[in-house]
Amino acid sequence: MERTTWGKGKRRAGSLDDLRRVLHRIDGKGYKAYKDLEGGYDFGRFSLHVDHVQGDPFAAPSMLRVRVPMNLAGFPEGLFGNSIRRMALEDFIARRFGAALPSGPDRGPGSGKSGLVSIDAGGQEVLERTACRVTPHWVEVRIYVGLPAAGRRILGRQAERILCEQLPRTAEKGLFWRNYPRRETEGFVGCVENQEFIRDSLQRLGLVAFVADGSILPRERGNSQQPLAGERAVAFRSPEGLRVSLDLPNPVSTERPETRITGMGIPAGVTLVVGGGYHGKSTLLQALQRGVYPHIPGDGREYTVTCTDAVKIRAEDGRRVEKVDISPFITNLPHGLDTTAFSTDNASGSTSQAANIVEALESGARLLLLDEDTSATNFMVRDVRMQSLVHKDFEPITPFIERVREIHRTLGVSTILVMGGCGDYFEVADRVIMMREYVPEDVTDRAREVARLHATGRRQEAAPGPAWRLDRIPIPESFDPSRGRRSVKIDAKEIDLVLYGRHPIDLRGVEQIVDFSQTRAVGAAVHLAASRFMDGRTPLREVLDRVEAYLDEHGLDHLDPFHRGERHPGSFARPRRHEIAAAANRLRPVRFRIGPGS
Ligand code: ADP
Ligand code: MG
Repeated sequence: MERTTWGKGKRRAGSLDDLRRVLHRIDGKGYKAYKDLEGGYDFGRFSLHVDHVQGDPFAAPSMLRVRVPMNLAGFPEGLFGNSIRRMALEDFIARRFGAALPSGPDRGPGSGKSGLVSIDAGGQEVLERTACRVTPHWVEVRIYVGLPAAGRRILGRQAERILCEQLPRTAEKGLFWRNYPRRETEGFVGCVENQEFIRDSLQRLGLVAFVADGSILPRERGNSQQPLAGERAVAFRSPEGLRVSLDLPNPVSTERPETRITGMGIPAGVTLVVGGGYHGKSTLLQALQRGVYPHIPGDGREYTVTCTDAVKIRAEDGRRVEKVDISPFITNLPHGLDTTAFSTDNASGSTSQAANIVEALESGARLLLLDEDTSATNFMVRDVRMQSLVHKDFEPITPFIERVREIHRTLGVSTILVMGGCGDYFEVADRVIMMREYVPEDVTDRAREVARLHATGRRQEAAPGPAWRLDRIPIPESFDPSRGRRSVKIDAKEIDLVLYGRHPIDLRGVEQIVDFSQTRAVGAAVHLAASRFMDGRTPLREVLDRVEAYLDEHGLDHLDPFHRGERHPGSFARPRRHEIAAAANRLRPVRFRIGPGS
């Protein structure tokens, strides 16, 4: 058997028989002997790469890759001919491979994670992820295997069964085109490409979002992203006046060979969603929030498409804010606190929501999504009675209602706002959509009429034309990823919690992170940004441009700062720039300075 230098130290390069021999030799030995496996093995139809062996049976499972040369895998080039189709095919392969893995009862005996084999396949969203890669030359899955042990003693025969027998069977099903359902695969890839086509078309059509007729927006439960099934789910039907149709590059679905799709187009500008409680307003907004990502066919929201730079804005009291110019919304705070470079360790509902808007504009948002359910009331409106009772001089807040139009006029940023409880917004909305028993109606004209008949007398109190200062410069030294003896230690603990060095980043208010692997990627991307692209002179906005360009060019494999060569990169899914910025903004020790442009 040869030994090659491959990454760190000597690693094996052998055959399937070599792998069996090693496993026989280490059978019954202490767990550490599994380290002998590290290296690559030629199985004939594919190669297996053991990149990292876990330290003990209870540790995070070992990291392996299975690679098939494309001339054997045989995926037609058309399925990965552009970057969207490739991303979709990679996603689909990860799902197929995952589905072909033996499940629970098959894992065999052993302690800890013994016999667990897994892949980081996605949920309802289709995201660029590290679990699978397709190139013109090969297709590869990155998997996890709990190498089996009884106590701490190696179960070599059991490992042989998993690696040398089960895995080839899974690979056969999951990595060779001839075992794929052709129509379903083409349907999946085509559907994802259709969604990106719609997203790309929005701007040209003067729209910020599209919801196809027939979409199923509600979910089966509050803690599930599965569609609500059965007759209770009311399919989406666009109001006459907002109906648009589009010609897609691929059939709508495997059941619908036509390429024409119709639905509600939400135009740029200020759109108000009204309606009685429990009539589906928030459900629509939540679908729009997730509509920045493509969805799998059958999700129900696969043709609910929002422009890429749509950012959900909510109140998030308690969060850290660092030198954000919230003065368009908040001035004259008690104690003369400066709101042009506002910092706090404990924001209130209204100041946090103001900061969330200014930060979203800074990271390049084109559409703001707000829901009354997650907003601070005093941030949204000050009605005429309150205007009379509490003089403007004693109210620091300029509510959103006084800025929403000029955010569109001067910055070109649209808003979709769910507001069932306050009609003052009729005056500032370009469009009013009413949800009635889950069906939208265009009530713009009626709302105008109502506004005329019942004038509120609310005065515009704020001076127009505030300066929007969106050029904070992050100070790289304030991003410290070290913990203990490790110079860089960043982990995702929960989908909404990153531990960055010694500091938690609370992402509960960042609603558009939809996948745990995105959370991991967000943590790593903040470090990538800080260590490579921040120099104390470059504004955050430009740092984000560079991170995006870097990920476009090098791929997600390079998010891990310790990544070497072609080894298993860990599980990452691509986050947007807005979520990377959101994480940096919530890292409590982070410091910014105000740019020279201000
Ligand atoms: P609102 O924000 O108007 O008060 P929600 O959007 O929270 O209402 O919806 C209330 C309930 O109705 C939720 O349980 C939601 O899942 C369900 N729902 C929403 N849209 C639909 C629909 N199209 N068909 C069936 N149920 C729906
Ligand atoms: Mg609601």
